[in-house]
Formats: sequence, structure tokens, C-alpha cells
Amino acid sequence: MSLQSRNAIVTGSTSGIGLAIARALAREGANVTINGFGDAAAIEAERTKIEKDFGVKAAYSAADMSKAEEIRAMVADAEKAFGSVDVLVNNAGIQHVAPIEEFPIEKWNQIIAINLSAAFHAIAAAVPGMKARKWGRIISTASAHSKVASPFKSAYVSAKHGVAGLTKTAALELATFGITVNCISPGYVWTPLVEKQIPDTMAARNLTREQVINDVLLTAQPTKEFVTVDEVAALAVFLTTDAAAQITGANLSMDGGWTAA
Ligand code: NAD
Repeated sequence: MSLQSRNAIVTGSTSGIGLAIARALAREGANVTINGFGDAAAIEAERTKIEKDFGVKAAYSAADMSKAEEIRAMVADAEKAFGSVDVLVNNAGIQHVAPIEEFPIEKWNQIIAINLSAAFHAIAAAVPGMKARKWGRIISTASAHSKVASPFKSAYVSAKHGVAGLTKTAALELATFGITVNCISPGYVWTPLVEKQIPDTMAARNLTREQVINDVLLTAQPTKEFVTVDEVAALAVFLTTDAAAQITGANLSMDGGWTAA
């Protein structure tokens, strides 16, 4: 267990990729603060399951990643509760799809706030403690859309490109403090959200399940396979290890070849 006596925050970890990362960090011995929205009883069940499965402490922060003060308070609370924040995973994210001239202003602002500015606020709040202890791992879930664009996703693509830039800048500033800063850029990841889209798309376009998967969802993904949440989590865990000490400022693709094209 490589993360014993380390403490981690994973934003947006009540489902999907974030939950898998939180559980993978806990499996390595880290105490974790999970965060995100959802049914209170379900979140509490996930929190206690982490404690039971891995013998670590798990806390829950209801901080809204669109609110700077709440993000900074989340980091302060985790430091108070566990003594430090050693691993910060900026993962919360939302999407909205619309032509640029119709893109709702409030959706633009919300996506930039949650997908980009939240990482800035969390990093800013966590860095003083990491610097003082001369150790830290900052990982953000970016996206293939941090490297390439797709139409109708102006806010998402802008925010994710921003995350890649923030990652590089923070990596340079923190390079001599034992702190690495990286982002992971998945292609299409198999999550309940993706799975739920399949029946509707089959009906709407009169396609088979295979056609929806290969020709609609995975059209840009050369392997024609989804990334799994556990694969993303495994890379996040690797980035926290000593073996990854010289990986910093990197934007690591995990996209079945999407951005090679
Ligand atoms: P998801 O919808 O399953 O999880 C998103 C999480 O963010 C949830 O826990 C949700 O409650 C939380 N969240 C949303 N708004 C929030 C807010 N204002 N404050 C706090 N928490 C908030 O999605 P996911 O697919 O697991 O996505 C996680 C990250 O991975 C996102 O940044 C997303 O852009 C990125 N990503 C996903 C895919 C994919 O195919 N699923 C691909 C590339 C990148």
C-alpha cells in the first residue's frame, strides 16, 4: 500500500470516474474526502463502504465546485480533519452541448467554473500545505477534449484545454517542492451515464446497440473500446507513486488512440 498515512481529496467522486479514483486511492491506504452531489443516503453508503472495504477514514464534503469559497473551505476542512491534503484530484465536471451562438450564458459560466476554475481554487488552497511538507500529488481529470475539439462543446473544450494549461503552469511553479501536477485525458469512458444513453439513441436513430457503440459513441476511438473507470483510477494511483516522481506537467492520454489521429 503506497499511500498509507496520506490524505486525499477527490472532487466529483459520488459517481463515475471520481468514485473509482477515490476507492483506488483508499485501496492504497489513503484517507479520502469524497465530494459531489447525489442522494444523501447513497453518498453515505459509499462513504462507509470505503471505510469498511479499505480500513481507512473517509469524509464527505458537499462543497459546490462552482463556488470558490466552498472549494477553499473543503480543502481547509480536510486539512483540519486529517492533518494534511497530500493528494488532490480535480475531477468534478459537467457537459452541455449546443451551437456556440445558442450556448446559454449560464451554462458557459457553470462549465468554466466547475470544470476549470474549481481546479484553480482547490490547487491554490492545497499548495501551501503541500509546499510546507515538500510532498504533493495533484491530478486533474481533463479529457481528450483538452487536446482536440468537437463541435457544439465550446465551453467543455475550452475548460478542458484550460485544465491542461493550468496543469503545466502549476507543475513549473511547484517542480522543486516535491509536488507533481498532471492531468489524465480519457476518451469515452464507460460510466452509467454513457450506458443510459444507448437505448434512447438506438430508438431515436433506429440503430442496433452495436451500431450505437461503434458508429456513434466510439466513432472517434480507434480501438472501438471504452476506457474503464478502473483504468483511469489505476493511472491516477500510479501518478501518486515514487516511480512517477519525475512525471510532472504531463497531459496523459487514455483514449484508445483518439488523439493520435
Ligand atoms: P459523472 O457525472 O459520473 O460524475 C461527475 C461528478 O461530479 C459527480 O460526482 C457529480 O456529483 C459531481 N459534480 C457535478 N457538478 C458538481 C458541483 N457543482 N460540485 C461538486 N460536484 C459536482 O461523470 P464522469 O464521467 O465520472 O466524469 C468525471 C470527470 O471525467 C469529468 O471532469 C469529466 O469531464 C471527465 N471525463 C469524462 C469522460 C467520460 O466519457 N465519462 C471522458 C473524459 C473526461
